Amino acid sequence: MLGIGIFGATGRIGKLLIEALQKDKEANLSCVYVRNELQYSIPQGVLVTNDISVFLESSDLIIDFSSPEATKLLLDTAIDKVQRPIVIGTTGLDKMQQDLMIVASQKMPILYASNMSKGIVVLNKLVQIVSSTLKDSDIEIVEVHHREKKDSPSGTALRLAKTCAEARELDINKVRISGRDGMIGKRSKDEIAVMALRGGDVVGRHSVGFYLDGEYIELIHNATSRMTFANGAIDVGKWLVKQKNGLYSIEDALTT
Ligand code: NAD
Repeated sequence: MLGIGIFGATGRIGKLLIEALQKDKEANLSCVYVRNELQYSIPQGVLVTNDISVFLESSDLIIDFSSPEATKLLLDTAIDKVQRPIVIGTTGLDKMQQDLMIVASQKMPILYASNMSKGIVVLNKLVQIVSSTLKDSDIEIVEVHHREKKDSPSGTALRLAKTCAEARELDINKVRISGRDGMIGKRSKDEIAVMALRGGDVVGRHSVGFYLDGEYIELIHNATSRMTFANGAIDVGKWLVKQKNGLYSIEDALTT
């Protein structure tokens, strides 16, 4: 049995990971890291700790859905003290936190995915094809998430925008815009808009539109259950424990 430790166990995804692991035949929950007391019961025999070193030592694989600051703490401890394969689903990581992931991946296998759904992997491939084929189309990306989401735009929307830009040999940092307001003039040819809407309990909706004169294509992915992310993270984790040290993507896990 693969013992999985959950980092961010009291969160929306963390609770679903615990639920999913109770039904899993190949993996079980070995340990949860919590800052404060757990407000709900977890299966007997599972270690609950607020010590990250103990947490790492108690698991064969770590799954992290927390916050960028917490992910940094986890990676710092893993680099300095206890190395374990880590699946990171936390979004909104800044450049320094992303660099830390690269440093950590020299000592342990790390898989980072801003979206653990298999459908988004397919969407990303489709977007690459359309962007490079319909080179004259105007690209507009819209994402919708629940009112509690803290980072914006979503990591997934940024990833899709990067794929669109790279398919046209453009630098996403130079062409991405995040809003339009006032007399800003007409749309420039290369710009890629990424708009974020927030409200209600929307799990996650991403649409990528390619607008031409006389026709347009819109590719849309809807996540209808957060369990998709929990199950996706567990699946890629089972793959990750068999890999050597390095930084992996969800595409690596699904295509090799
Ligand atoms: P949440 O706010 O419900 O839960 C966050 C969890 O992290 C809680 O358990 C909280 O106690 C813990 N945490 C936060 N800051 C901490 C700190 N400094 N130290 C220790 N623990 C800390 O959030 P959520 O909806 O479960 O999402 C968690 C993260 O996962 C977010 O970044 C979110 O954007 C991301 N997410 C990723 C995917 C994906 O597929 N990759 C899907 C959904 C959400």
